[in-house]
Amino acid sequence: MPGKVTLVGAGPGDPGLLTVKGRAALEGAEVVVYDRLVGPEILALMPEGAKKIDVGKTASRHPVPQGQINEVLVEEARAGHNVVRLKGGDPFLFGRGGEELEALSAAGVDFEEVPGITSAIAAAAYGGIPVTHRNYSSSLHIVTGRAKAGEPLSIDFDALVRTRGTLVFLMGVAALPEIVGGLLGAGMDGDTPAAMVENGTLPGQRRCDATLDTLETRAREMDIQSPALIVVGEEIGRAHV
Ligand code: SAH
Repeated sequence: MPGKVTLVGAGPGDPGLLTVKGRAALEGAEVVVYDRLVGPEILALMPEGAKKIDVGKTASRHPVPQGQINEVLVEEARAGHNVVRLKGGDPFLFGRGGEELEALSAAGVDFEEVPGITSAIAAAAYGGIPVTHRNYSSSLHIVTGRAKAGEPLSIDFDALVRTRGTLVFLMGVAALPEIVGGLLGAGMDGDTPAAMVENGTLPGQRRCDATLDTLETRAREMDIQSPALIVVGEEIGRAHV
């Protein structure tokens, strides 16, 4: 019998934030293919006898190329296995989950998707930041701080600033100077509250509070590292949650 791939969102790290459906899929897996950002306590839920394939990094510390991951998924499912493809947060938010499902679909492999709780909202929430608030912002914009290989960052900062909504940048630690510079250059007030949440929902979570003008300095002082979110918006520090 042909197998199947279940693409599961593992949530932002706290094992309590894995969905009931995701946990059931994981516990029934014969093969688990997982990423770097899946929390250790969630990895501990993998069945003992399951084949575990880490595609988050290789010996050279580079992630396994996407094409190769797609091939592994297709091969394991064709071999008749019940495969869980485990990804941090929600698989479709900057997780390349869509690309993987396209490959499975093209190969005629049966698949299912189990959404996950995204770090974009949950890591902010655990950091005490509601991403919208009736008094301060009425929209949320989630932006990647990573450019395509060999290309500059392509963010329409003017459009983002005009929304007056909450801005959440993922994968933005390395590009922090460009992000801050882009927002200031597009006319955003340097006093706008800005924060970072590092290792959100995990035991080592830290929050860095600043304004747009001071965010880079504060982040450097605190040595904020990936994974971290950058949140920019009026509700930070005003909404008390
Ligand atoms: N699909 C994931 C995001 C993948 S992009 C999701 O829905 O959450 C990876 C980026 O997500 C990281 O660079 C970081 O910006 C953010 N991220 C993931 N886990 C995080 C965590 N626990 N705390 C803060 N940011 C996190």
